[in-house]
Amino acid sequence: MSDCLFCKIVAGKIPAKIRYENDDVLIFDDIEGQAPLHCLVIPKKHIATLNDLTLDNHQLIAKMYLAVKEFAKQEGIAEQGYRTVINCGEQGGQTVYHIHLHLLSGRNLQWPPG
Ligand code: AMP
Ligand code: ZN
Repeated sequence: MSDCLFCKIVAGKIPAKIRYENDDVLIFDDIEGQAPLHCLVIPKKHIATLNDLTLDNHQLIAKMYLAVKEFAKQEGIAEQGYRTVINCGEQGGQTVYHIHLHLLSGRNLQWPPG
């Protein structure tokens, strides 16, 4: 998707602080971090929202969570804990329409979110 912000990050056309990468998944810092650690976990392949998951692409969600598990170990936050969130659509708070998982850690996170 040539006009997608996160596809441009995957392609290296827009800079990002990349912290983890494998064949299918990229993890980089959110530009407006809401916690001491706030990263975005994305599939390299463009999927717009959770509503666009199909039997052909749903394995990417599992790969995103496996990457989170590896990354949490790498960053030393696995034991203290963290939160993962996927916003979907307008009322879900989604602003970038390339599916992504927010990974937040480093402070006591409140519930429910705003
Ligand atoms: P959402 O609102 O769930 O769609 O999340 C989109 C996230 O992307 C927000 O938390 C933004 O701060 C973040 N964001 C927007 N532009 C960039 C960028 N160029 N690099 C890194 N994060 C970004
Ligand atoms: Zn995209």
